[in-house]
Amino acid sequence: MQEEKLRKTRCFHTRRRTYDYSWPNNRILGGGQLGRMMALEAKAMGFKVAVLEPSANSPTAQVADVEVIGAYHDPEAVQKLADQSDVVTFEFENVDAITATILQEAGKLPQGTALLKTTQHRLREKEALEKAGLTVAPYRAVSSIEELRTAIDLLGTPAVLKTCRGGYDGKGQYVIQSKEESAKAFHELDREGVELVLEGFVSFEKEISVIVTRNAKGELQTFPVAENVHEANILKRTIVPAQISAEAEAHAIQMAETFAKSIDLIGTLAVEMFYTSDGEIYVNELAPRPHNSGHYTMNSCNVSQFGQHVRAICDWPLVEPMLHQPVIMDNILGEHVEKALEAIPQFTNAFLHLYGKSEVRTGRKMGHVNSVGKTIEEAINTSKQLNIRMHAMEAAR
Ligand code: AMP
Repeated sequence: MQEEKLRKTRCFHTRRRTYDYSWPNNRILGGGQLGRMMALEAKAMGFKVAVLEPSANSPTAQVADVEVIGAYHDPEAVQKLADQSDVVTFEFENVDAITATILQEAGKLPQGTALLKTTQHRLREKEALEKAGLTVAPYRAVSSIEELRTAIDLLGTPAVLKTCRGGYDGKGQYVIQSKEESAKAFHELDREGVELVLEGFVSFEKEISVIVTRNAKGELQTFPVAENVHEANILKRTIVPAQISAEAEAHAIQMAETFAKSIDLIGTLAVEMFYTSDGEIYVNELAPRPHNSGHYTMNSCNVSQFGQHVRAICDWPLVEPMLHQPVIMDNILGEHVEKALEAIPQFTNAFLHLYGKSEVRTGRKMGHVNSVGKTIEEAINTSKQLNIRMHAMEAAR
């Protein structure tokens, strides 16, 4: 909850008109570790970056040019930010509606507010995906125990009950194994009358994701499909290339591109999907921003998801992403930091990215490491040798 609060109340960055030779019409906004990685790329590209957030010395503020301390949803702070920015972006989809509107009305939010609104609510998100012709798990809106029971009759068990808003990393979810659990599941999630959705359980073989980027000119690029392994609902490892057929890879990319075009995407969108053993692909959820499953791009592609995002929101031409080498991305949580710091200096093919979070907590994302190799086996081997995290064979295959 604390983490959620922090992420929600973090920040914006802007580029200030400081130099005569500054890029025209370009300013940037974001926060947290995603904001930090966006900011690092933006600065390398010559932009100035500012961050708005309630507390000092956040991951983004440590690398930004300007730190504005203020609440993420404070209209005055947001207006101040808009006044001194050309381009504003965000690192978290639960951007307050008033904040987004202020920025949009000021003409500073190229990504607009429509996709934010869609992805803030699971039902709206599913409807948009279906409208674009994409497959999602069967679902029903649920607002009472009776409706939940009826939905279970229709979708069967197991089924996953989710809050429509605010869930992340498996929070706001309940896997219902039998109809008898209906009341318990409902009461667990139905706090203050939140809207719920019941999803049919997808027996997936793998979880995969596609990062797609589009600019205002309509140029669109996708990164190679990522294969994702979760542990306790938190992303543990990403494997690229995904160990799926070329046909499935093409299908996943085509789905992401179809959706991006259908909504006139500007910026970056992560599309998380389930891949089943009979070759079906279901979209699970969307994130309208760079995503943890795209961190692998930082050391294995000719452009990172963050650099591409900056290009897109500034309406620069997009780079056609190319994978230089296979890669395994391992997330470093609080409990892995010590081991990671010990191991990394001994490797030339494992690249550490730390987020600068001062407080180390179990389960908190502190950084990630990209292990690369000439082959996927070599990359897996390096990741295993690092021994930062338990490395089951089946997790990498
Ligand atoms: P989410 O927050 O929707 O990404 O869900 C977190 C994790 O729960 C996913 O990464 C899946 O591993 C699992 N999950 C979510 N929805 C379903 C579903 N409908 N069927 C099977 N597994 C699911």
